[in-house]
Amino acid sequence: MAERIQAIRGMHDLLPDQTPRWQHVEAVLRRILAAYGYREIRLPLVEKTELFRRSIGEVTDIVEKEMYTFEDRNGDSLSLRPEGTAGCLRACLEHGLLHNQVQRLWYAGAMFRHERPQKGRYRQFHQLGVEAYGMAGPDIDVELILLCRRLWRELGIAEKLQLEINSLGVPEERAAYRAQLVDYFRAHYQQLDEDSRRRLETNPLRILDSKNPEMATLIAGAPTLADALGEDSRAHFRGLRERLDEAGVAYQVNPRLVRGLDYYSRTVFEWVSRDLGAQGTVCAGGRYDGLVEQLGGKDSAAVGFALGMERLIELLALPEDLARAGLPHGYLINLGQQAERQALLLAEQLRDALPELRLQVNCGGGSFKSQFKRADRSGALVALILGDDEARAGTVSVKLLRAEGEQRTLPQAELIPFLKTLL
Ligand code: ATP
Ligand code: MG
Repeated sequence: MAERIQAIRGMHDLLPDQTPRWQHVEAVLRRILAAYGYREIRLPLVEKTELFRRSIGEVTDIVEKEMYTFEDRNGDSLSLRPEGTAGCLRACLEHGLLHNQVQRLWYAGAMFRHERPQKGRYRQFHQLGVEAYGMAGPDIDVELILLCRRLWRELGIAEKLQLEINSLGVPEERAAYRAQLVDYFRAHYQQLDEDSRRRLETNPLRILDSKNPEMATLIAGAPTLADALGEDSRAHFRGLRERLDEAGVAYQVNPRLVRGLDYYSRTVFEWVSRDLGAQGTVCAGGRYDGLVEQLGGKDSAAVGFALGMERLIELLALPEDLARAGLPHGYLINLGQQAERQALLLAEQLRDALPELRLQVNCGGGSFKSQFKRADRSGALVALILGDDEARAGTVSVKLLRAEGEQRTLPQAELIPFLKTLL
């Protein structure tokens, strides 16, 4: 036999048993996004590399070592999207969607990062991204958080997720803070790990984001950004916290929350779960007011979040009825030439009459025994049996597969009311 080709490491197939969970979550997401007035935008999977360099930042993990970058046949450098914010903003600027108007948008789909694959961390993964443009106050930040809370509630996982928030201030405030941080970490240079030493020169705030437990004590003693914020940023953050309190949203202020991407300003937040092991952040977002201008637009406010679908779905308990969601209600067994022909037509009539019905017709022949086995394996609730005798008489035999009951024969006309009881 020829050697089998395997999927790429970290890029997973979603098998039919798993897709009902995804479809369920996607349906809930769509409904709730619509309820808040967010509209879908669909974006290319590939963009010019320059777009990500300029938006995410040269010295971030993503751009330094995680992007799938390649030259296309014209010699242009292109990259598979590692996240959606840059492409979304690029599209909005390109099509004038930000001209004197606000926008509330969402997108969903695959993202690509060349990371070390492990539980909750893949090379192709899926995000829901939600972005709001043209609104500078903390009200819209709170709206996004409330939208998340509603999602968790609808999905039955509200108890499993905790909200952490922080304010990163504006770029000038961060620059001043950065200088303080560099002084602090320089004074403790011996305790820095290799990654942090490199970041000390390039992006010292990222040291705070380190996942190395040996760095935890040192990081806990570092000066905090909160002390470096000016009055406007403080007021913005206060506004955020007050509105969250009013809406009864529980949160923790985490002064170490800095987020991996360069473009954030003021509000940042993460929804974190303790049930997922090391990869506990399910949803992360914040304000990135500077980015619109950085990508060639007019100075404009922007805030958004991205939710990791794999991590979210990992948290879900699968409701009973969901396990059946994709499975057929009926399986139509047919024996003999005349019955085989009639089965296709009968099935069409049943589907016309019952649009919700999921019906599989046995194709490819087989003995009664083997067809019956297939009916059972299909997960169907009922086997419909059409032999040449039934075909001539205009009847069909029915046998329940998941419940007790004798096989019985019905006129074909009575099938519709019978099947209706299974839907
Ligand atoms: P992490 O700290 O886990 O690397 P990040 O800061 O790189 O996360 P973001 O870029 O903010 O992640 O992406 C938002 C969300 O997308 C994450 O909270 C997570 O749920 C999901 N996510 C990010 N990278 C991956 C990945 N490689 N595999 C699966 N999900 C991911
Ligand atoms: Mg990452």
